Amino acid sequence: MASSLGPRGGSSSLPTNASAVSAPSPRELDLERLERAVDTLGQVLTVLGDYAFDTDKSPAEETRTRFTQLARHVFFGATTESEAAGPPSRRDWASALKLVRDQRREEQDFVVRGIGNLRHALQAFASCLSASVAEEHTSDARIQQRLGALRRAIEGNDTEAIREEAQQMASAVESSIDRRRQREREQLSELGGRVQTLRSELAAVRTQATLDSLTNLYNRAAFDQEVEKVGALGLLLGAMPCLLLVDVDHFKAINDQYGHPFGDQVLKAVAENLVRHFLRKEDFVARYGGEEFAIVVREGSPEKVAERAERMREAQFAHTTRAGDVEVRASISIGIATLKPGESPASWVQRADAALYAAKRGGRNRSSVA
Ligand code: GH3
Ligand code: MG
Ligand code: MG
Repeated sequence: MASSLGPRGGSSSLPTNASAVSAPSPRELDLERLERAVDTLGQVLTVLGDYAFDTDKSPAEETRTRFTQLARHVFFGATTESEAAGPPSRRDWASALKLVRDQRREEQDFVVRGIGNLRHALQAFASCLSASVAEEHTSDARIQQRLGALRRAIEGNDTEAIREEAQQMASAVESSIDRRRQREREQLSELGGRVQTLRSELAAVRTQATLDSLTNLYNRAAFDQEVEKVGALGLLLGAMPCLLLVDVDHFKAINDQYGHPFGDQVLKAVAENLVRHFLRKEDFVARYGGEEFAIVVREGSPEKVAERAERMREAQFAHTTRAGDVEVRASISIGIATLKPGESPASWVQRADAALYAAKRGGRNRSSVA
């Protein structure tokens, strides 16, 4: 500390070679001690001023000036430069004591308040963090451990330990956030994969829901929708949609004679034959129910459709299904109806059914156009 202040005269005002002249009297010794004590006090006050800092009430510069003036007062009994140059006057010890006491008290309040604020802020931070960790159900033992250490440091009131722990806490939180981000990224990509799988499973289930399990043709529900859709749109688009209802002849007898599982084989063979003959993109083949099937040909001339139906019927009759040593032949009857302008889907189906009934009555193994 460099101070421009110093005791006026100081110890040089006292005889240094006193022993050579004469031994100092007890009073002279007391005076010397007193003067040294006053000098030391002045130095202490100067040091206090030099290390002054900003508080809520007074800035460092102001405090420094006050202490400098007080030191000057102690050294010289003066408060200003000009007074210091003049003869020494009586010192006001009571005011000096009050100034030092007030200043120290203010500094103490300031420091205690500052540390208190820091502790509160850190406690709030620790509570927030602990709540967030609990909310996310993260069992991050390292953070919990650091939190405990930080809390203990806060309780312990050791500013250096608090700073150290706060730093450790910050880096623990930082790496925890990094790990959490990484985990989230992994979870997200896993979720993405799962969603993709679910999507394709859902699509498969949707398709399954529209298919007949025995023949793998469209089922009755899908057929009903198709008839509605084609009935509403077909004529608007200028097409002439055609409906074929197909029924296996005397199928009950096949079941009765060769058993139900063999009957299933025959149904599958009939389905395959239907698909083989109606596999264009405008053809829709379904199992209507039991041993009955339906084909919607979305567009095409009725004559051509009737020709294709005949070829299909002949192929079916040419086909046999083996039951042990026996070859079983199953024929089909077909009713055909072309959608009329303004006709309802129900009426369309009903006319095709009537045509099928006519084919049955006509002797079976034949097709009939409504
Ligand atoms: P028609 O020539 O007049 O059509 O006579 P049909 O014997 O074919 O007709 P009917 O309605 O009397 O008999 C149909 C039989 O089809 C009765 C039923 O048990 C059988 N059936 C229905 N669904 C299935 C099935 O999924 N598998 C088997 N194996 N048989 C079935
Ligand atoms: Mg039938
Ligand atoms: Mg039948």
